[in-house]
Amino acid sequence: MFKWVYFFGEGKAEGNGTQKELLGGKGAGLAEMTNLGIPVPPGFTITTDVCTYYYANGQAYPPELKDQVGKSLAEVERIMGRKFGDPANPLLFSVRSGARASMPGMMDTVLNLGLNDATVVGLAKATGNERFAWDSYRRFVAMYGDVVLGLKPEKKTDDDPFDVLLDQVKHETGAKYDTDLTTGDLKKLVRLFKEEIKKRLGVQFPEEVHEQLWGAIGAVFGSWMNDRAIAYRKLYDIPGDWGTAVNVQTMVFGNRGETSGTGVGFTRDPALGDNRMTGEFLINAQGEDVVAGIRTPRPIAQLESILPEAFGQLVTIQNRLESHFRDMQDFEFTIEDKKLWMLQTRTGKRHPFAAARMAVDMETEGLITEKEAVLRPDADGIAAFLSPIFDQTAKAAAVREGRIIAKGLPAGPGGASGRVTFNAADAEAWANKGEKVLLVRKFTSPEDIRGMNAAQGILTAMGGMTSHAALVARQMGKVCIVGCGELDIDYEKAQMVVGDKVVKEGDWLSIDGFTAEVILGQLPTRPSEVVQVLSGELNAEDSRNYQQFTKLMNWADKHRKIQVWTNADTPGQAEMAVKLGAEGIGLCRTEHMFFEGERIHYVRRMILSETKEDREKALAYLFPMQKEDFAGIFKAMNGRPVTVRLLDPPLHEFLPSREALKPEVFEEKVKAVAEELKVSPAEIEARIEALHENNPMLGHRGCRLGVTYPEIYEMQIKAIVEAACDVAAAGIPVRPEIMIPIVATHQEMKIFADMTRRIADEVIAKARAKRKVHYLVGTMIELPRACVVADQIAKYAEFFSFGTNDLTQTTCGISRDDVRGFLGEYVNREIYGNDPFQRIDREGVGELMKMAVKKGRKARRKIQIGICGEHGGEPNSVEFCHQIGLNYVSCSPFRVPVARLAAAQAALKG
Ligand code: ADP
Ligand code: MG
Ligand code: MG
Repeated sequence: MFKWVYFFGEGKAEGNGTQKELLGGKGAGLAEMTNLGIPVPPGFTITTDVCTYYYANGQAYPPELKDQVGKSLAEVERIMGRKFGDPANPLLFSVRSGARASMPGMMDTVLNLGLNDATVVGLAKATGNERFAWDSYRRFVAMYGDVVLGLKPEKKTDDDPFDVLLDQVKHETGAKYDTDLTTGDLKKLVRLFKEEIKKRLGVQFPEEVHEQLWGAIGAVFGSWMNDRAIAYRKLYDIPGDWGTAVNVQTMVFGNRGETSGTGVGFTRDPALGDNRMTGEFLINAQGEDVVAGIRTPRPIAQLESILPEAFGQLVTIQNRLESHFRDMQDFEFTIEDKKLWMLQTRTGKRHPFAAARMAVDMETEGLITEKEAVLRPDADGIAAFLSPIFDQTAKAAAVREGRIIAKGLPAGPGGASGRVTFNAADAEAWANKGEKVLLVRKFTSPEDIRGMNAAQGILTAMGGMTSHAALVARQMGKVCIVGCGELDIDYEKAQMVVGDKVVKEGDWLSIDGFTAEVILGQLPTRPSEVVQVLSGELNAEDSRNYQQFTKLMNWADKHRKIQVWTNADTPGQAEMAVKLGAEGIGLCRTEHMFFEGERIHYVRRMILSETKEDREKALAYLFPMQKEDFAGIFKAMNGRPVTVRLLDPPLHEFLPSREALKPEVFEEKVKAVAEELKVSPAEIEARIEALHENNPMLGHRGCRLGVTYPEIYEMQIKAIVEAACDVAAAGIPVRPEIMIPIVATHQEMKIFADMTRRIADEVIAKARAKRKVHYLVGTMIELPRACVVADQIAKYAEFFSFGTNDLTQTTCGISRDDVRGFLGEYVNREIYGNDPFQRIDREGVGELMKMAVKKGRKARRKIQIGICGEHGGEPNSVEFCHQIGLNYVSCSPFRVPVARLAAAQAALKG
């Protein structure tokens, strides 16, 4: 006979933790905990197979199901010594949905199922607590009415109909909290709730307990296909045929009085990663009271003094769970009259910073292996070690000045300053205009996600460490403070009052996610601990963050196959990048050097030159400066490869822009440049006109400049190689690589390979250094044509470096600067799976890259190939580069650790 129902109870379960697909995540967790001998109220799981069957057979159950449910139910009755529906001493159940992955949109849990006008009397007698029995009953009628029968608010702005009645009775009786209601009030509520159901839905609340049970089971399976669940599955690629399971479980009661309670927790701190149990609880409460924000929950540590035995047991169990599942667990528990029961466990979500710290700690504790520690944290999350924190002097001043106005719970580490917005839509709109904003809400809900993402940080008045805001912020890696009860937020007035202070929309505010302090005004930030250690301002021994970071990075280096280089234009950047682990420079942009100090003057003189001679004169001024720049970088890189890209942008970028400036400002700038160069403004304007291009991205730039003005590239090549020879002569090893931009044809490559060799060999011969300087000449691959003819180009190029920013623009035909109007819509509608400028578009751009690698290696077996586009620091793209066999990825200095970890993960995943 086919098995549709899996029992768990009395230390033995028919299923186990590996059966998430069959039992759902919750059911598998309950089974596993039962088998471990952890106290779990007995019950049974109706499998996901039933859900599949249900939808394949016109919403009918398998014929054997009733019987199997009956048998498991009888087994629970035997264990508990009570009967379902027994008016003398009733057994009650919760009915809980449970998909493989937790899924919003699924049916909410129904508690206290099995109560009716007869059994409520029995429950009161059996427990000697009439108030408790009626409290449970009114909760059940409301939950069942809402979740199973569907009595919900009609409009979005309406309140929950049951809450309206509850508030009405509270108001009449002057009760502040639910716990202030008397037995009489609760009886009245039950009556009012049932009347409301009859009035609004035209159905009678079911008194028969089996009818209640099957109604709830049907509602869970029905919810699998509701709009919200379908939308969520679509968003996260969850197949519709997975199905949900239903868990039917004996009720235990956290609302039986002062020795009962309920709570949620984590085995470690999910925000900071520290190895200590965190969470919160409420005494005399049930179910979701803790997260619902009706009463403010208390931190879990306080449970120790209130119910010491249960607390001690909880500590033991949570340790047990973590060592069993070998990862941080997120658990739910209830204490009924001092006795602890576990109701759920699963691997918990965590802040990326916490994820990395935990992984290192768990390896050190021997809980996981080094490989697991490398694989677990999200590679992007490692950036949290480098993100700025508040300047401590400025913070101390803020404390002295009394600018700390409130304190909440630290849900996401880091320091964030921004202008206050009170709703998600504003936060998004302001951020799009380039403002830094903080999103301040009473609490957040799923429709706020985009605003949360746009904000520097999130601050809420309500909710605990397990609230929506805290969970989402942790996942996004945002700075976040929750449960800041002192904030009195008024959405209408767009302001909040904190004590005697008023903070208005648009005011600057700062939040410290490490200490959970809310600070008036904008606070300057300073480098993270890791960066402070690297720049010598802090001792390594004094920073646990630094030690953990280094440990993880060293492990990553052991496992990765691909090198990690950096994009750096100055010696300072290069030095920091090396400290962060860069093994070379994959892109040094020379044009940035053209803007500095008095150089721009000579650049402009060169641009205005009518003749080659005049141009050469101007270039002669630039030459020593460029040479000095290169020498500085070579020294900083101390023998590591340095890839210098010859001039790339179109020349008009060095003159005032008529398009980008207001007319008056443009005129002014032109006048200033004219004075500087001692020519007339008209002459400057004429030159600007002449250089104007309709589509500069595809215009006179890159090696096309080198073709028409060879003297520019000649000067740059000479400066690079002379600098290399000078540095080598001083005993410092050098490895210059000269990179030609925007090459489309092998003829172009030949011209510049010849030019480079002619100049470089002459300089090197003259220098007669002890150690001869070796150099490479190669190209950026940033045009589809270059990929197609990569074999021809490789005859002259000793290396390729994928410039994936331009390669994406030219392959997709999308200008990176003009994506605003449509790319969001494209990604939302999955026309592109992801923003192709952030993550390599593997199907399109990626295939071209593969082609270039294959052809390049065919023509020149040992050709060095890397990537220097922004994608080089994005984990998914790094993985792709590893897979197609590149030699290195190059990214901005602060992304280097991310790339190192991503590269190791790619290698370990195989
Ligand atoms: P969710 O998936 O939304 O977390 P759960 O099924 O875990 O829903 O139920 C929510 C809460 O209801 C639990 O955290 C617990 O407090 C309470 N609950 C569920 N089942 C029981 C039970 N058998 N006894 C007591 N409380 C329960
Ligand atoms: Mg819930
Ligand atoms: Mg739960």
